[in-house]
Amino acid sequence: MTPLQRLCIIGVGLIGGSLARALRQAQAVDTVVGAGRHTAHLQRAVELGVIDEFSTDLAVAVGGADMVVIAVPLKAIRPVLTAIAGRLAPEAILTDVGSAKQCVVDDVRDIFGYLPGTFIPGHPIAGTECSGVEASFAELFQNRRVILTPLLESQAWAHARVKAMWTLAGAEVIDMGVRHHDDVLAATSHLPHMLAYTLVDSLARLDSRAEIFRYAAGGFRDFTRIASSDPTMWHDVCVANREPLLDKLRQFSHDLEQLTQAIENGDSDSIMQTFQRAKHARDNLYLD
Ligand code: NAP
Repeated sequence: MTPLQRLCIIGVGLIGGSLARALRQAQAVDTVVGAGRHTAHLQRAVELGVIDEFSTDLAVAVGGADMVVIAVPLKAIRPVLTAIAGRLAPEAILTDVGSAKQCVVDDVRDIFGYLPGTFIPGHPIAGTECSGVEASFAELFQNRRVILTPLLESQAWAHARVKAMWTLAGAEVIDMGVRHHDDVLAATSHLPHMLAYTLVDSLARLDSRAEIFRYAAGGFRDFTRIASSDPTMWHDVCVANREPLLDKLRQFSHDLEQLTQAIENGDSDSIMQTFQRAKHARDNLYLD
């Protein structure tokens, strides 16, 4: 890929900051412009060598950029689009990293009045429970997947350029339909976050919580690590991906109720079958 001349990252946090770091390390970009709400955060990003320059005026920040990456929480994408509409360079590519895709596509169509051929929605399947530019690191996307959900309107050259960008950041890039993405991610990412948040919240409200958490072992820590994730980000995901997530939550509630009944009834066969199926799936099927 010929290096990006001017990459504008709106939202220089964990994901935006890590992308900037990775592309810098790969010498795939000349200048990185950061944009966000808080000067102090952006100034820190300059000190850390993540970005070269910044503006809190998003319309100014995108000026002259050949690639604009929106990396803010989902609910903030709409106001960001409003601020940059009509301010992008004619050939500028617009992409995002949002954890749900239909809502972003709808926002772009609403705000721009059409779906630009240079808009390529994206979602890196990589992250940590930490937020902000301090948490960003260049290796975040190494050997991880990035899903692009190009649209009928998307132009091939823009798609290829976004794909090349993520490949240089270390990721394997795959394409998926928008709705399929939202459905799959509701199951594999959004549902587990709901379970972790609810489990920790439920136990934290017990009178015996101090003792419970004192004796929490490795399994509890592993399972609940993602409950430390940013509440704003996950609130936005719930709202944005409501229907697919509700679908998965209902299915899971049903299955949990089945297990509850099996335990209540002393139904060892049913309990064993559930655990054996789960162990088989976990051990063999898909996790690399
Ligand atoms: P983050 O670390 O909190 O970074 C978000 C950045 O957006 C911050 O630097 C913040 O800077 C800026 N921001 C927030 N609201 C804004 C607004 N209204 N206008 C302009 N800038 C704004 O969050 P993140 O984890 O990188 O997540 C960013 C996006 O990546 C989200 O859409 C999320 O769904 C997606 N994602 C996250 C993960 C993950 O595991 N974390 C994985 C894949 C995708 P200021 O406070 O200075 O404005």
